[in-house]
Amino acid sequence: MKLILLGAPGAGKGTVAKLLTKMDGSVQISTGDILRGAVAAGTELGKQAEAAMKAGDLVSDDLIMGIMKDRLREDDCKSGYLLDGFPRTIPQAEALKALLADMGEELDFVVNIDVPRDVILDRLTTRRTCTDCGAIYNVKSNPPKEEGKCDSCGGPVVQRDDETEEAIGNRLDVYNEKTAPLANFYEGEGMLLTVSATSSDAVIDAITEKLGK
Ligand code: ADP
Ligand code: ZN
Repeated sequence: MKLILLGAPGAGKGTVAKLLTKMDGSVQISTGDILRGAVAAGTELGKQAEAAMKAGDLVSDDLIMGIMKDRLREDDCKSGYLLDGFPRTIPQAEALKALLADMGEELDFVVNIDVPRDVILDRLTTRRTCTDCGAIYNVKSNPPKEEGKCDSCGGPVVQRDDETEEAIGNRLDVYNEKTAPLANFYEGEGMLLTVSATSSDAVIDAITEKLGK
């Protein structure tokens, strides 16, 4: 399958993407994970992205498109992909449309995961992430078996730099201003599936039903 997962930070895009990869071998492509990897590795890309990420602002469209143009041409994309955290602005959506047309590819559809703001805020402040594999935990509802240690890879499970209260507020504002308009954009393209659900299982069910599986 080839899907875009839209939704506010904390809506569950990453969790849903990981579940979907197990169904048909599609790969999860998270621009956030790619960027965090680059920051951790201290690459040139990481240096360019770090300050904006820490503040909860977006990195530039040019930087993101540079990454995605290469990433979508990699071999593993042939079995399908779940775009998690991309596109995030109207210019990115336009550039992706041109890129896919150029590659002769079509997406199945765009899933908009719609979760109430109070649920989002609660989730983000209690969320913890494995810095090695990106697995997502929650201190209240889904802690790792051993505190601070990833169940699947043993890596460190920590609170992200951009998950301080201040940065979270900014990320939600940035989402409403820059990313929320993408729902209208894809509605206009006839590609939007909006799912109002707080459980990832319910989101998966809606997606599989639409895929006709
Ligand atoms: P979230 O939980 O907010 O969905 P992500 O892991 O997707 O977090 O992204 C973390 C940060 O990486 C963002 O706040 C932003 O700074 C940067 N980022 C990720 N994807 C994009 C993108 N498509 N365009 C611009 N910036 C991005
Ligand atoms: Zn891990």
